[in-house]
Amino acid sequence: MAAPNLSEKAQTYLHKLCVEIPSRRVGSAGNRAATDFFAQTIASFGWATETPGFTCIDWAEQGADLMADGEPFVAQVSPYSLGGQAQAVLVACSTLAELEQVEAEDRVLLLTGDLCKEQLMPKNFVFYNPEEHQRIIALLEEKQPAAIVAATGRNPEVAGAVYPFPLIEDGDFDIPSVFMTEEEGARLAGLAGREVSFDIRAQRSPAIGCNVVAHKGAQSGRRLVLFAHIDAKEGTPGAIDNATGVVILLLLAEMLADHRGELGVEIVALNGEDYYAASGEMLWLGQNAGRFQEIMLGVNMDGVGYADAGIAYSLYECPDELAGVIRRTLASLPAATEGEPWYQSDHSLFVFNGVPALAFTSDQFAALWTEIAHTPNDAPDIVDPQQLVNVAQALSDLIARLAERMSEETAAKSMSWQGETLPEGSRGTM
Ligand SMILES: [Zn+2]
Repeated sequence: MAAPNLSEKAQTYLHKLCVEIPSRRVGSAGNRAATDFFAQTIASFGWATETPGFTCIDWAEQGADLMADGEPFVAQVSPYSLGGQAQAVLVACSTLAELEQVEAEDRVLLLTGDLCKEQLMPKNFVFYNPEEHQRIIALLEEKQPAAIVAATGRNPEVAGAVYPFPLIEDGDFDIPSVFMTEEEGARLAGLAGREVSFDIRAQRSPAIGCNVVAHKGAQSGRRLVLFAHIDAKEGTPGAIDNATGVVILLLLAEMLADHRGELGVEIVALNGEDYYAASGEMLWLGQNAGRFQEIMLGVNMDGVGYADAGIAYSLYECPDELAGVIRRTLASLPAATEGEPWYQSDHSLFVFNGVPALAFTSDQFAALWTEIAHTPNDAPDIVDPQQLVNVAQALSDLIARLAERMSEETAAKSMSWQGETLPEGSRGTM
């Protein structure tokens, strides 16, 4: 197939996922449209396709009003917060020690400084949850404030390119909360001890979502698994984060339409990397419990295809021989370099379970996370579709090499079972 066709196809897929579908947040109609589209498209290339489902929350908000001393303050509703309204005395804390001491029951609790230096992990998040976060959350629940106001700074590493960032983003945390800039927080802190009134307008509603899991080749034995998360934050088209990863999977699925043989290939559109409960990730982990040793290699794509950047790939726990095959294959991937390991995406599911992993992102990782991710700027016009085609082609080559190596190993085994001596050099290296 000629390359220009694939590049156009990449663009069509991107347009579908980022423009025709207005939002891919977990729980939304758009999220279901995206998984439907993925499932139908990949099935059309002859892949056996399943859509295991999960329950989740859809969430809507209509803003928040906060008034103190006759003055309005600018605040945004924390994602997944419950709504609520009341008039109450304002108390403020900036450290854990202050939070331990404060009387906050039925008051409005303003958090600043140290307590707001990074986004708190959702209380039921299992992959990474520092003790300090758990302690802050436990104290907040124990203190029972009527509402929480968090004044947060810039922290691209944790929250993406959003300022101010929500301190709390947790559908399992039931105290209504808002967040504001450090400047607004400093102004509000001056009114501690006074009455404030708040009206937080937000609703949670039960919803459903699913992963899409597609298979080719042998259904048992060793397999290769490829991930891209299909969900996006609300308020962003989610092109680089992570429609591009999904597009690579679709391009690859078509390239592998005729894949057969011993090496199983599993393609997964994971649904939840940008959702507080990581529901799709939890589901996939549960469905693979006790079977991780079957996975020869896990591949994840997140943040690939930024037109102003090259491609960065990174390897995790790959045995030398496998690492050699990967590096030799990716040597011919244009504009690609081997980068530093990073763990803030779905390849951590492989790494934490002892599965060798390969991750792809952009080599301008910092710029991507401070200026683009989770904002309206993350739109298809900043994507180089040819990069997506190149990554899909490289993965297709890698799978062909690994499949070839596997059948050579099997052939060698069956020859030795027959008591024959292997001819010199019959076990090719890659
Ligand atoms: Zn992502």
